[in-house]
Amino acid sequence: MSVASISKRLRIRVTGIVQGVGFRPFVYQQAERFSLRGFVLNDGDGVIIEIEGESSAHSTFMAALTQTSPPLSRIDSITTEEIDALGESSFTIRRSAQSSVRTMISPDIAVCDACAAEMQDSTDRRYGYPFINCTDCGPRYSIIKALPYDRPNTSMETFTMCEACQKEYDDPTNRRYHAQPISCFDCGPTLTLLTTDGTACANGHEALESLKRLILEGKTVAVKGIGGFHLVCDATNEAAVKQLRIDKNRPSKPLAVMFNDLHSIKEAATISNEDERLVLSKERPIVIVKKRADSSLASSIAPSIDKIGVFLAYTPLHILLLEKLGHPIVATSANMRDAPIITDEAELLKRLNRVVHAVLTYDREIVNACDDSVMMMAAQETLTMRMARGYAPKSLPLSLATKKKILAVGANQKNTIALAFDGHLILSPHIGDLVSLDAFEYFERTVETFKDFYDFEPDIIVCDKHPGYETSKWAKEQIEKSPGTELLEVQHHYAHALAAMAEYGLEEEVLAFSFDGTGYGDDGTLWGGEVLIANPKTYERRYHLRPFSLLGGEKAVKEPRRVALALLFECFTLDEVRQMKNPTVESFTPEQVTSLYTMWERGINAPSSSSVGRLFDGVASLGGIAQESGYEGESGLLIETLSKESDKVGGFSYSIEEGVIDYRPMVREILAASSKEAIADRFMAMLTSLILELAEHHPTLPVVLSGGVFQNALLVSSVTKQLRSRERRYYIQQETPVNDGGIALGQLYHALHKTGRDNG
Ligand code: ZN
Ligand code: ZN
Ligand code: FE
Repeated sequence: MSVASISKRLRIRVTGIVQGVGFRPFVYQQAERFSLRGFVLNDGDGVIIEIEGESSAHSTFMAALTQTSPPLSRIDSITTEEIDALGESSFTIRRSAQSSVRTMISPDIAVCDACAAEMQDSTDRRYGYPFINCTDCGPRYSIIKALPYDRPNTSMETFTMCEACQKEYDDPTNRRYHAQPISCFDCGPTLTLLTTDGTACANGHEALESLKRLILEGKTVAVKGIGGFHLVCDATNEAAVKQLRIDKNRPSKPLAVMFNDLHSIKEAATISNEDERLVLSKERPIVIVKKRADSSLASSIAPSIDKIGVFLAYTPLHILLLEKLGHPIVATSANMRDAPIITDEAELLKRLNRVVHAVLTYDREIVNACDDSVMMMAAQETLTMRMARGYAPKSLPLSLATKKKILAVGANQKNTIALAFDGHLILSPHIGDLVSLDAFEYFERTVETFKDFYDFEPDIIVCDKHPGYETSKWAKEQIEKSPGTELLEVQHHYAHALAAMAEYGLEEEVLAFSFDGTGYGDDGTLWGGEVLIANPKTYERRYHLRPFSLLGGEKAVKEPRRVALALLFECFTLDEVRQMKNPTVESFTPEQVTSLYTMWERGINAPSSSSVGRLFDGVASLGGIAQESGYEGESGLLIETLSKESDKVGGFSYSIEEGVIDYRPMVREILAASSKEAIADRFMAMLTSLILELAEHHPTLPVVLSGGVFQNALLVSSVTKQLRSRERRYYIQQETPVNDGGIALGQLYHALHKTGRDNG
């Protein structure tokens, strides 16, 4: 061996999601493979590797590092440095160093194929074990109390490993090497079935048997999942589903259905290859797919719409339960209306005592709550409707380093928070609608959790411009408490556009369609149909929908007919409206029409809005599709269900003058339209033409689509198809929520650019 080919030592620093994902044993195996000596070590910033050996082996090692890294890992950066060789004789995995903690947290991951197979193997010591996991799967975020991610810092700390588990845990060649939640029948958590007064009535296998009987009898039960409890009932039992709806006070909002395998999903829904890929992904989200007309599922699972949310059993416990049942189950987050998902049985029994007949629980604490994620395919686009289990906490690579620590607190609905520090950008899981005290406490708890994880005190807090948002009020209180902290307010629809720019790292000017529910506009009115020319630092409101009144304010959000009536008042006189025979006018008494007209005329409790989301409501009412709304986004789903040929018909008319998009020609045409289906088709076609027309006015700008309206799969697929055929560059969020769940990300992106200069 020549002198030149030896005594070279490389120090390699890897950052990203590299802890708790089997990264060190992977490195160990690669080092062995290429006969390299040295060590691998976790520290607060990620992983440090030192290798020495032949220089040719160094490059093959480096290639293997990036090309074959473990499935749950994500490498954000690798830096190398040549140092003096030490003449070590072996490669070792060293104990974690304690230093400042900056490593990313992995989300909870669905049971992997290897563990699922092992659980089914009657000769395996974990046969039928409901908490089987390995380095590639199992709980992470939901059990972490502090970083670094080591067993004593998780809710597994109370379980002492048995000898057999310890052996696997210590063996770098075992797939459970340093799998922090490792356990078995002898040493891990156990299942317990509780009656509604909290008494344990069965354990283990027996608990599952009793639970199965209750579900098959049509009862609602609660089951502890990975990030919280689900309310569960037999999805094929119409009476059971109806009862669950009554008990949960949830009249029409679709319920998700959990299946045991892909085959049974296909019996209930028509799914594309892309849907299938999402359903089977290691994140196992709820995927919104097309319901089959001949499905045996209870029809009240998703009344009046042709879609359904499906997902596969994602914990070993769910698999065991579904196998026993042989039926799909409704599995909806256990919570009170407007409250966060429940994570402990005492709380559950207190709040939902009258709803459930039994509670299946286990003794591993859920430290951080996490809902199920919700995804949908729209043509080639993957839409994230709720980013939670499997995906979040999500870290995005940050192009702009920041010396300042920034906290963005998001919107009031579908709240999430986002943090930036050093080279990191982190988005929290879905927190929810901050419309109850419980929900707001959950928001505060999440902020504290993330501050603790990352030893983070913000220098800048970013919030929405809406003075009424709980998050904005909270942000202002924080500034008062610590005057050194800066406050930055970002307009809601600009933040939507920014979220898309953030996901794709766009720095350039874009034409952004921010079509949404309502958000606070710069002029104090409620925006939501905005076309912006925007870059990360600033924007201009170039076009917007002609404003109309929300008669009765908040009431108008719940009652599409109030929006529709305002649209009629924009076009006709009171006398003309009163004489009309259409579903909107007929849903009111003549006296009501008159008093709402007065409200409209004087502008009392009738805030002005340019929201496309509300325009959907107005159209749904005028078309006799819906007069009242059971849940947010219902009109959109109903219109989408009715629309079959929007790509074949001409859209309703509109005009654009001085940047104002006037819908009044559309209103007149709706009144003359022949059917609900025709109205749905022509309205969808109109929105597509509108976007394409405006995009043509700005041929050099990339198009950004963002905001809650783009959860409409039909709109997204028709617009993107057209943009592609015109070879227009466009961006729509895929990995981050396109709805208000993305606002925090947008706010953060703006703050990074605003403060970037005095920052670096
Ligand atoms: Zn596994
Ligand atoms: Zn064990
Ligand atoms: Fe919004």
